[in-house]
Amino acid sequence: MVRDTTEVQVEKLEAERERVVLDVERLRDAYRFEVDGNVDEGDPNFAEREKVMALMRGLGRKLESIDNALRQAEDGRYGICERCGEPIDPARLEVVPEATLCVQCKTIVER
Ligand SMILES: [Zn+2]
Repeated sequence: MVRDTTEVQVEKLEAERERVVLDVERLRDAYRFEVDGNVDEGDPNFAEREKVMALMRGLGRKLESIDNALRQAEDGRYGICERCGEPIDPARLEVVPEATLCVQCKTIVER
């Protein structure tokens, strides 16, 4: 992958990272009580709390992938599949800039 493309993707990743961090902070502020409080299953807040926790976990995972991809970019390996070492389809990177696995490997890993 040529350097220019990596730079464009890194910019995208950094913008995305900022957005995710903001989302996490917003959720944390909005749901401080529910997330920190001891809510058990009988509590009317339970379902809501579970939803928010799932959302936070999802954002956390997203942040991890973004950091991962940024580290790869630093090493000059952006766009290279972590598993098989083949270049990742640029069309895929266009849609999922934080992808560190090619479609085939992702399918295998998730199975
Ligand atoms: Zn692969």
